[in-house]
Amino acid sequence: MEQGMVMRSTGSWYNVQSKDKTMYQCRLRGKFKIKDLKVTNPIAVGDQVQFEIEDKSDNKGVIIHILPRVNYIIRKSVHKSAFGHMMAANLDQAILLVTLAFPRTSLGFIDRFLVTAESFRIPVVLVFNKIDLLNEEALAYQQMLAAMYESIGYTCLFTSLVKEIGIEEFKQSLYQKKSLLSGHSGVGKSSLVNRIAPGLHLRTSEVSTFANKGVHTTTFAEMFEIAENSYIIDTPGIKELGLIDIGKEELSHYFPEMREKLGECRFHNCTHVHEPGCAIIAALEAGEIADSRYASYLSMLDDYDNRR
Ligand code: GDP
Ligand code: ZN
Repeated sequence: MEQGMVMRSTGSWYNVQSKDKTMYQCRLRGKFKIKDLKVTNPIAVGDQVQFEIEDKSDNKGVIIHILPRVNYIIRKSVHKSAFGHMMAANLDQAILLVTLAFPRTSLGFIDRFLVTAESFRIPVVLVFNKIDLLNEEALAYQQMLAAMYESIGYTCLFTSLVKEIGIEEFKQSLYQKKSLLSGHSGVGKSSLVNRIAPGLHLRTSEVSTFANKGVHTTTFAEMFEIAENSYIIDTPGIKELGLIDIGKEELSHYFPEMREKLGECRFHNCTHVHEPGCAIIAALEAGEIADSRYASYLSMLDDYDNRR
């Protein structure tokens, strides 16, 4: 029996890289049981699997077993709302590439991403790109913002491809890790990756196919080895990602700066909106929790009411 990592998934075939870096094309044996997880796909990119070689001459194999996952991320399924599509497993971190201008990434978007990553227990590195385009005032704002995110546990990096700033640090941050790379279209994901791994072209991975009855969208995830044992997973928009398992009452647990104060609220079921004796509101008023983070919290709370 061989062991390897799933590098690419197309639905019925999986590219599995064995320990000696040989790529095998594998299919699943029979019906795979998906326990406890409401997902449309049993195996994701990043999964460690055991497989049997079927045909040595053309590197074909059959996946027998999935090893336990450290974590995974799920995106809401387009068709079956109660189900999700597993996008990747066993990630070491998520890199969120943001730009404060051209295009402007909103704080609400950043915070949603962070909450989602917290819920999947995946550390996040925030990379502020295109810093060459910012004037002094914008740079000062960026500095303040990054200090705030650093203070609640998120590493921040600053990059510019035009001025060659921070490229080496960015590369270092990926070293020997499996990283999910996300960010709005146009923030510079492909440029940055092509800069540190020339010749590798990200296929930003949304592929639409036209089936007999209407349009049908399939998500192909793919992992790239950009340096020895350093992998990145390129994903389409992360907007639809996650939040499917987070209840309204537990939302504040995924804000690290709130999480540590939750025990101090007078009411154990405090929503931190209007309750007396709320430790979160007290911390907000004392300037210990950023206004923008609290605003994101309220906006996410609102979504629950609008959704149900
Ligand atoms: P993606 O959609 O996230 O993959 O973004 P791209 O890599 O396609 O980049 C979008 C545009 O931003 C391209 O025109 C890049 O040349 C440009 N760009 C990327 N990084 C920088 C940067 O650091 N500074 C400036 N000024 N432009 C950049
Ligand atoms: Zn409270």
